[in-house]
Amino acid sequence: AHALAYLQSKLRDVPDFPKPGILFKDITPLLADPRALHITIDLLAERFIGERIDIVVGIESRGFIFGGAVATRLNAGFVPVRKLGKLPWKTDRLTYALEYGEAELEMHMDSIPKGARVLVVDDVLATGGTASAAAELARRQGGTVEAFAFVVELDFLAGRSRLDSENTRPAVYSL
Ligand code: IMP
Repeated sequence: AHALAYLQSKLRDVPDFPKPGILFKDITPLLADPRALHITIDLLAERFIGERIDIVVGIESRGFIFGGAVATRLNAGFVPVRKLGKLPWKTDRLTYALEYGEAELEMHMDSIPKGARVLVVDDVLATGGTASAAAELARRQGGTVEAFAFVVELDFLAGRSRLDSENTRPAVYSL
């Protein structure tokens, strides 16, 4: 509880970013603090030790930071999910609905070995639309999505119940 309070103190609430009316959770103070960063990665990774995670799928861009670090802790590989037009090779893409409008995410073809056990990592779980799209891309490439892990969960947006209802087995974790 002491460690979580410390991490909480390193999250900054920024009003009206990126648009008026949105209260943005800024994780950069947590990243910049050596102790907070270490504790965050430890807590994200520890519950998956012994769970045989083969691939961590990280969502651009802050999911790369946490996902990459968690992958090394779990001796897993790392596969990026990126916004449209960033990945250099053949991709699978998925259009998904945002609160206003839509967005497109991509993953490299054949990036996940068939049957690989996948953990999806991002910094913030809001509505769950982004994580849901990343999981769908991972499944299309042959992975089995075992769980989702986030640093921050915005409870009032009910992303957890969305991920629970759309996925038969995966568990959803946040610090
Ligand atoms: P969702 O698809 O509504 O769950 O939105 C999650 C995506 O938007 C993630 O990739 C987050 O990085 C980003 N996001 C949404 N709200 C915040 C926030 O308050 N702080 C940081 N990232 C956010």
